[in-house]
Amino acid sequence: MISVPLFSVRDLHVWFELPDGRELHAVNGVSFDLHAGEVLGLVGESGCGKTTTILATMGLLPSSADVAGEIRINGEEILHGGEASVRPHRWRDIAMVFQGAMNCFSPVRTVGSQIVEPMKLHGIAKGAEARRRAGELLEMVGIPAASADRFPHEFSGGMRQRAAIAMALACEPKILLADEPTTGLDVMVQAQILELLASLADTLGLAVVLVTHDLPVVAEACSRAAVMYAGRIAELGSVDDLYHDSHHPYTRLLFAATPDLLGDDRVVSIPGSPPRLDREIVGCPFRERCDSAVAECATEEPALHLVGSSHVAACHLNDLIENVRQ
Ligand code: SF4
Repeated sequence: MISVPLFSVRDLHVWFELPDGRELHAVNGVSFDLHAGEVLGLVGESGCGKTTTILATMGLLPSSADVAGEIRINGEEILHGGEASVRPHRWRDIAMVFQGAMNCFSPVRTVGSQIVEPMKLHGIAKGAEARRRAGELLEMVGIPAASADRFPHEFSGGMRQRAAIAMALACEPKILLADEPTTGLDVMVQAQILELLASLADTLGLAVVLVTHDLPVVAEACSRAAVMYAGRIAELGSVDDLYHDSHHPYTRLLFAATPDLLGDDRVVSIPGSPPRLDREIVGCPFRERCDSAVAECATEEPALHLVGSSHVAACHLNDLIENVRQ
């Protein structure tokens, strides 16, 4: 029996109307599924649409954004009425850990009082019960409950990020989105935060989406990853598939551009820059930077095709391989 994914995004599109009337298509047909306990990495260069994707699933985009597609939690579609219909699910079903934990805490209130806030707001708990729960959440992320009475500036960077995770869990969400949660932390603390996210996914049965531009972070924390380019998914598969059997030239270049990830200390840079998203893209969006492009790449956008049992890639070279095999 095929189980219903806990979190499913189907054919998600996000576009912004520009002041001159043109449209900027930031996310173009992104789809992925996640089951309880899974951590999916969303990776790619800046501006590839990964943060916009998760902000859309939280209903947190600015009013200038239009969103279309399907977002399902346990099979229930939550985008039917546009972004407004996502809002009741925000924090209760889907919660987010933002980049730079200091930004999500007010400096003039204790950490505990801020963790209590979403519980009160959503009618989960109040008064002594909410304070007790805030202490429990802090302990769950490795901070003594008594620290609830301290102010954010009294926490180290790592503690603040842990507290931000505790706050995101205040309403017992099923889905946790983490946007570059380890940026600015030293390597040891970064490893601890990633370990914490993976262990919370496992023990609480959370579906976690981890946005990062950092491939070693994906290797450390994720079971699967989607490589995004120009607002599309270029390749999606298990971390092992992507590392050892990638089927998209962009994925291969991303790995080659990461120092020492595959035991090779030669680092290459990816030539050129991503295409402008406020202009129509004809053919493969990666073709200007791709040294494997064939004639078809200039005219036809490649679709995602299965290249393994649960591994997909959008590159015409895979169609050619398939044709040779037939
Ligand atoms: Fe390169 Fe063509 Fe594949 Fe795009 S479709 S990644 S241009 S080979």
